[in-house]
Amino acid sequence: MKHRIGFGYDIHRLVKRRKLFLGGVQISYPKGLLGHSDADVLIHALCDALLGALSLGDIGEYFPDSDPRYHNIPSTELLKKTVALLRRKNWFISNIDIVVIAEEPKLLPYRERIIKSIASTLKIKEGFVSLKGKTNEGLGPIGKKQAIASYAVVLLHRGV
Ligand code: ZN
Repeated sequence: MKHRIGFGYDIHRLVKRRKLFLGGVQISYPKGLLGHSDADVLIHALCDALLGALSLGDIGEYFPDSDPRYHNIPSTELLKKTVALLRRKNWFISNIDIVVIAEEPKLLPYRERIIKSIASTLKIKEGFVSLKGKTNEGLGPIGKKQAIASYAVVLLHRGV
């Protein structure tokens, strides 16, 4: 098999007195995401997509928070570990497409920085990373600014 596809999803609550990180970039916003470490919902969805492409389970199984090695580790470090695992198995990223669903803040002003951050963390070209921001049209907990969700799809190819 030459290619494998992976899909990931994550959601975190927005709460006061937390910093907001998306794709390893700190976003200026009065609230942040609740969760272990930096609760970077975008990176968690992306890690799940990468692990899913190789049927390796999910981020919670691979990097359990009960393991002191992974407690409070920045999400970008989990992403680096995930891609290192793929490379050891001789799989490489063809491209990534990510959707972030947030009523606020607007993602567009940060889009280039987030793409740069992800591409440099994964050591791939920026042209292989796509990022789209959507609102939830005011509907449900995301629409009421209580949470941010993210979906990610990845295509991997086998090394020669
Ligand atoms: Zn998460």
